[in-house]
Amino acid sequence: METEENITFKITGNDMRNLRKFRKQHKNCPQVTACDQFNYSFTPTGLGLAISVKCSCGQELMLGDFMDYDSGK
Ligand SMILES: [Zn+2]
Repeated sequence: METEENITFKITGNDMRNLRKFRKQHKNCPQVTACDQFNYSFTPTGLGLAISVKCSCGQELMLGDFMDYDSGK
């Protein structure tokens, strides 16, 4: 599993935990290619980087530092 190492520079803390959980839940989903079950997209916003992870089954997980600010409103 080299994927996890490659993305740690972008995803940390709570996001990393959520991502691990998401990937565990979806580990039995069919893989599109040998090494690309999850599709990551990074979107810069005014509050930080929004990260969405999409599994091959169509489910999507939203991550990003800006989530922390939302709860404080
Ligand atoms: Zn899935």
